[in-house]
Amino acid sequence: MTTTNGKVCEICLVSRPMVKRPKTGQKVCKECFFQLFESEVHFTIVSNRLFRRGEKVAIGASGGKDSTVLAHVMKTLNERYDYGLELHLLSIDEGISGYRDDSLETVKRNQLQYGLPLTVLGYGELYGWTMDEIVKSVGRKNNCTFCGVFRRQALDRGAAALGVDHIVTGHNADDIAETVLMNVLRGDVARLERCTEIVTKGPEEVLEEDGEDQACSGGGGSSGGSGIRRSKPFKYAYEKEIVMYAYFKKLDYFSTECIYSPNAYRGYARTFLKDLESVRPSSIIDIIRSGESLKVGGEKLGKRPELGLCQRCGYISSNQLCKACLLLEGLNKGRPLLGIKNERSRYSKQEDEQGERGVGRKIPMWQGVKK
Ligand code: SF4
Ligand code: ZN
Repeated sequence: MTTTNGKVCEICLVSRPMVKRPKTGQKVCKECFFQLFESEVHFTIVSNRLFRRGEKVAIGASGGKDSTVLAHVMKTLNERYDYGLELHLLSIDEGISGYRDDSLETVKRNQLQYGLPLTVLGYGELYGWTMDEIVKSVGRKNNCTFCGVFRRQALDRGAAALGVDHIVTGHNADDIAETVLMNVLRGDVARLERCTEIVTKGPEEVLEEDGEDQACSGGGGSSGGSGIRRSKPFKYAYEKEIVMYAYFKKLDYFSTECIYSPNAYRGYARTFLKDLESVRPSSIIDIIRSGESLKVGGEKLGKRPELGLCQRCGYISSNQLCKACLLLEGLNKGRPLLGIKNERSRYSKQEDEQGERGVGRKIPMWQGVKK
């Protein structure tokens, strides 16, 4: 490591240092910071062989800092290193007034700023319910379970319609370290082993009591249920550095929190992580590395459920109905707890007898990735 008198950048030894990197403590100038940040993401991409040349990739874009920086960096690296990717922005409109409507305006500006095509798919259009309506019906306790399950399918369906079978999301190192901590605190060994994966493909069982895991920064929404790959190029990027990058690059992003954010259990894990980071900046990476090294075997992992197709919408599911169809049916019947907690186990006895009568609006049949 180079040491200087603090008056010049530790990398180029010429310019004035503007940034003390949270990740390493290095004092660097703006230009060297950009270069380091981008090179580290490039290294993550290349060393994990995230992309194939000619691949179409959808960037899950919310208008927030992570996905805005991701779109900017993906575009920059695709051009600089000639990855040969066809990039799209894909946004999900959950229908949260005063939050998502404003953040989508940011994505629309990003579309023009970065020259990338944008597709927006709304919960209202796909499920017949917006999050505002869902919260009115279910209250503020399980809202993120609905939102997370619906987002996961909406992203897959949006990508499939675009002919895209790879989605990148802006989950950063802090999000992943938090998820590792939460899985440790809950004793969820099966997820502990999987939550640090940089690429996920294939179905992920959505468990009960998942409300917060489904929330925006949760790892729960990171697996495709359809064979569409999901990857996280920012797996090792610190949140603080993403904020600095956005700030110094003057990127246009939306910084307000969701008005329905639960902020409970994950919030404690977040605060704990920030406290750890303040005394030992490497804590975030250390926690991720710990998660990566864990191999839990034997009975603890349990048997992974067998997979089939949802009988109603054709999406991959380990049950008769996928979670989204079950949640939607509950909403339509005025029984929003149907897909949550023990209500699901009663499903086969009661609802089966009624067949498809009274199910209400259904999710369109899954057609797979459009070729
Ligand atoms: Fe949806 Fe919850 Fe995220 Fe709000 S915080 S957008 S309700 S998952
Ligand atoms: Zn279904």
